[in-house]
Amino acid sequence: MRPIGVFGGTFDPVHYGHLRSAFEMLQALSFEQVSFVPCGDPPHRGVTYATSAQRLRLVELAIAGQDGFVADDRELRRGGPSYTVDTLQTLREEHTNRSLGLIVGMDAFLGLTGWHRWDEILDFAHIVVAHRPGWKAPDIGELGELVAEHGTHRVDDLHNTTHGFIHIHAVTQLEIASTEIRDLVAAGRDPRFLMPDAVRDEIENTGLYKET
Ligand code: ATP
Repeated sequence: MRPIGVFGGTFDPVHYGHLRSAFEMLQALSFEQVSFVPCGDPPHRGVTYATSAQRLRLVELAIAGQDGFVADDRELRRGGPSYTVDTLQTLREEHTNRSLGLIVGMDAFLGLTGWHRWDEILDFAHIVVAHRPGWKAPDIGELGELVAEHGTHRVDDLHNTTHGFIHIHAVTQLEIASTEIRDLVAAGRDPRFLMPDAVRDEIENTGLYKET
């Protein structure tokens, strides 16, 4: 059974930076699927601009028709702060013998040691870090130690074990950020070509991000 990729985020809104990274992971790492998990109440972020239901809807529109891409609304249903470790724990209960790979960008990975129960995450899943070619993995501090202990270059390790490895994988970096998209829409400009048309149309039709 091939691994399931778990891609969490605020996705406020989802854009081609997220989608391209997830797609490259799906293909290069031979994942069975990538589950996009919009967070309900993001503990690290404070506010979101669109509601959780709106962000989920944008994700659903973005991934429609793409084999292997799935939207997972568990963090919206759960209520309370959305902690990644809780999400991984519930996924592990559902997929006892399946490899799980938590997909994070390098920026998110560098903040890992601030996450709730971060030191338990590798008990439930692998961590797959999407990074920019030429960037160096952390090699000092707690994260450096974690990478030294758990890092692997072998994709096979992600398939042959269910959790516990860190794999840093170069993906095409698209310098797109949700923050910039929101600012752009608020300024009355068109976010076309930064995201699928269906997402852009939904933002326009619902008046999302007009005021941030
Ligand atoms: P914001 O601008 O509001 O901070 P964001 O664009 O960084 O949002 P998030 O929903 O916070 O998007 O990110 C979810 C995940 O996607 C994180 O792991 C983050 O590292 C990753 N990510 C964000 N932008 C990109 C991008 N352009 N390319 C690849 N990965 C990205």
